[in-house]
Amino acid sequence: MVAKLPEEEHPIRAFGWAARDESGVLSPFTFSRRATGEKDVCFKVLYCGMCHSDLHMVKNEWGSSTYPLVPGHEIVGVVTEVGSKVQKFKVGDKVGVGCMVGSCHSCHNCTNNLENYCPEMILTYSAKYHDGTTTYGGYSDIMVVDEHFIIRIPDTLPLDATAPLLCAGITVYSPLRYYGLDKPGMHVGVVGLGGLGHMAVKFAKAMGLNVTVISTSPSKKQEAIEHLGADSFLVSRDQDQMKAAMGTMDGIIDTVSAMHLLMPLIGLLKTNGKLVLVGAPEKPLELPAFSLLMGRKMVGGSAIGGMKETQEMIDFAAKHNITADIEVIPMKYVNTAMERILKADVRYRFVIDIGNTISSAH
Ligand code: NAP
Ligand code: ZN
Ligand code: ZN
Repeated sequence: MVAKLPEEEHPIRAFGWAARDESGVLSPFTFSRRATGEKDVCFKVLYCGMCHSDLHMVKNEWGSSTYPLVPGHEIVGVVTEVGSKVQKFKVGDKVGVGCMVGSCHSCHNCTNNLENYCPEMILTYSAKYHDGTTTYGGYSDIMVVDEHFIIRIPDTLPLDATAPLLCAGITVYSPLRYYGLDKPGMHVGVVGLGGLGHMAVKFAKAMGLNVTVISTSPSKKQEAIEHLGADSFLVSRDQDQMKAAMGTMDGIIDTVSAMHLLMPLIGLLKTNGKLVLVGAPEKPLELPAFSLLMGRKMVGGSAIGGMKETQEMIDFAAKHNITADIEVIPMKYVNTAMERILKADVRYRFVIDIGNTISSAH
């Protein structure tokens, strides 16, 4: 018989909301988490952002979901217990967890601070942990996570509006840096003004860029310019506006969650311009070769960011006073919020007040 590890013998009782099938409807769910292992940090969840990926996942739109599925990968809270070998955190610290909770620690990606591209990267929910147990996300009262995947939240940042940085924030910060779209004065387009898009505008402005929002929602124009600080706004369905802006952008961050045409976006790029896809529509997008050939343009992708860069992003946000624009909701509103995300009816991120509302929601 194999001896059980202490964390297997005394699991922690946890409570969350789970989807049980592809209808994606969430309802209360009691489950267990491993007890705090020697390198683990256990924390009480206070807030969790709602990412469009949660919606893709509860409905199994990417074909990888397993049920019951507790979503949530924009998680912040306060440490309640640390394992004996934890070095960086102590009880009472404000912490966050994003999209991943494990990786191999030895591959080329892991040793280059790119755990997000490790072939054995373990997602925060609907994945299998090293010990074979299922991972459950932050629509729940408590998390137990290897300290390597924990982010420190600076005291100056409000916890609720910081939660979305852990996915939406890093997902747009990383490609701006990696693709060199971070030089002051550059002109960058942001397609889709949702959770990711509004963070892209804020980070790009803090980097000194000239930012144009490209949106299907004319009603977002005034706010994008007056409140988020965008320099200009294009309605993607207005062909005259799109035509007038052709060949003007150094790069574009495309955050759109659904099928859309790439050709008009590529047309907005200057010679050598870069279109970076971060949105993850369920079906393939059409990529017309000629639009890239003419002007030596490129299309790339990017998925979240490594742990080092995620901490760098949070520290950059603290320095520049960047947080998400949020609508804080009680746990029981979650299914309505999912419907509103699908209609692009959120300015710009729902954040669930887990700490105050999860226990009263069943
Ligand atoms: P979101 O808040 O729902 O925002 C998406 C925005 O896309 C909407 O606000 C809307 O903006 C635009 N949009 C929606 N449907 C559209 C359509 N049919 N045609 C054109 N534009 C449309 O979603 P999010 O949380 O920002 O996530 C966006 C996408 O990124 C999702 O697919 C998500 O899974 C993915 N994601 C990827 C990563 C990564 O690591 N790469 C990380 C997180 C999320 P307008 O109203 O301005 O048009
Ligand atoms: Zn996400
Ligand atoms: Zn690895």
